[in-house]
Amino acid sequence: MNTLLKSVPLGDWKIYLKANYISSYADYLSKPFVDASFEYNKALTGQAVQKPRGEVMTSAVDNYLGYALGQLYVKLYFPESAKARMLELVNNLQKAFSNRIDQLNWMSDSTKQKAREKLFAITKKIGYPDKWRDYSHVTIVRNKYFENVVSAAANNFQYKLAKLGKPVDKTEWFTTPSTVTAYNNPYANEIVFPAGILQSPYFDNNADDALNYGGIGMVIGHELTHTFDDQGAQFDKDGNVKNWWTPKDYEKFKAITQQVIDLYNKFTVLDSIHVKGALTVGENTADISGVAVALDAFKMTEQGQDTTRIGGFTPIQRFFFSVARIWRVKMKDEYLRYWVNNDPHSPPMWRVNGPLMNTPAFYSAFNVKPGEMMYLDNDKQIKIW
Ligand SMILES: [Zn+2]
Repeated sequence: MNTLLKSVPLGDWKIYLKANYISSYADYLSKPFVDASFEYNKALTGQAVQKPRGEVMTSAVDNYLGYALGQLYVKLYFPESAKARMLELVNNLQKAFSNRIDQLNWMSDSTKQKAREKLFAITKKIGYPDKWRDYSHVTIVRNKYFENVVSAAANNFQYKLAKLGKPVDKTEWFTTPSTVTAYNNPYANEIVFPAGILQSPYFDNNADDALNYGGIGMVIGHELTHTFDDQGAQFDKDGNVKNWWTPKDYEKFKAITQQVIDLYNKFTVLDSIHVKGALTVGENTADISGVAVALDAFKMTEQGQDTTRIGGFTPIQRFFFSVARIWRVKMKDEYLRYWVNNDPHSPPMWRVNGPLMNTPAFYSAFNVKPGEMMYLDNDKQIKIW
């Protein structure tokens, strides 16, 4: 915000603050404000029509009372059996990651030891938090939408303020249970998978392992790898910024992540807009290794060692279909352009093609030949973790 304020002429900063305040509450005000806010977003993202009222209201409840909503959500959609299967998946991925660390030829034994310690110290949060947030100070009144939002926002502010001077609460969640997301928090060395993402196409308690390891397995592998991406690698097993690498190993690690930057810089969308390799390197590293680790873990399962076809496809082929399926996204050109310039994740198609070009088993599963779009020479394929 400071840089923005500097660009506003002296004396006008109060106008800027008021404008900012109005714009952050515009969606909760009367129609002219909602419409103006939509027009602005339309220019940025290409969104053609406003969201239906039902969706707007559901998001508002999730934004402001998300842990109360989450409590209801997990009761309906997240059985204990799903939590148990998910934990088994995460544990298998962790084992697969550890095996891959053992086999790395660029890392010394002492750094490997530290990497394994960090890997097995990761806290796994699955589904929903152990204790629920308290909203008893929020006042909800029928027909008072704006006031309800202000009351919930004030409650959120107080919640954050109450943390001041207290020890870090390691049980805290930074996403609501019903959100479709997953994250790695390097400050606590934890990975978090809310119930919202533990549904199809990512995870299906009734589906075969090929689909689940290619789907949520890749996401788990991705989050585990953040522990060791360009930023995560700077934190130790307790979440403190601490160098646990030998200088030589760190140098080699940086050289491989540079290969990731160079490769993704070549990828384009909308004909000529290049993916920003440096901006997306952490996410791309997590994608490449995420697929590799998920595949190794899948091969530990009964189906992963089998060749029985389903619908004409081998288990390994179905694994790759599932990787591709979780990144199926439809977006406007405007939004894609905005994404490539601002988001640290590569656009969805490169979250599939990028990692698979660097996965040897993909070549054999689909008989990929030199000269084809997905082909990279063997010595150009990147292996990090
Ligand atoms: Zn990520």
